[in-house]
Amino acid sequence: MELSHIEHIGIAVNNLDEAIAYYENTLGLTCYAIEEVPDQKVRTAFLKIGETKIELLESTDPEGPIGKFIEKKGPGVHHLAFAVNNLESNLAEVKEKGVRLIDSKPRKGAEGLDIAFLHPKSTFGVLTELCEDKNK
Ligand code: ZN
Repeated sequence: MELSHIEHIGIAVNNLDEAIAYYENTLGLTCYAIEEVPDQKVRTAFLKIGETKIELLESTDPEGPIGKFIEKKGPGVHHLAFAVNNLESNLAEVKEKGVRLIDSKPRKGAEGLDIAFLHPKSTFGVLTELCEDKNK
């Protein structure tokens, strides 16, 4: 594996605007983008801290992954995303090491990144995302 840094931390929120106000007004970060990802049934807001981003996730559909997560566990930390340099080969490597994959192949996530999720049952309860920025 060759993880370069924590790309972002995904946080499920009930209300994107209220959460952005907290991160901006209380923590002093700046939201630089809001994006809807219809595929994931979410609206996302991004704030940057160092090389790492905070990805706020508001559900647009109670049946979507974030809607279901909030119903079950309430708002809070949803996933951890590591940046990798070669997503396909890293994905093959974790699979070979016995990690259960949610995405067996990379797909497009927010901000045009290639992403894939590892199953929390294989990662000590932490939904883990690997992402690669091919536009860099
Ligand atoms: Zn993410």
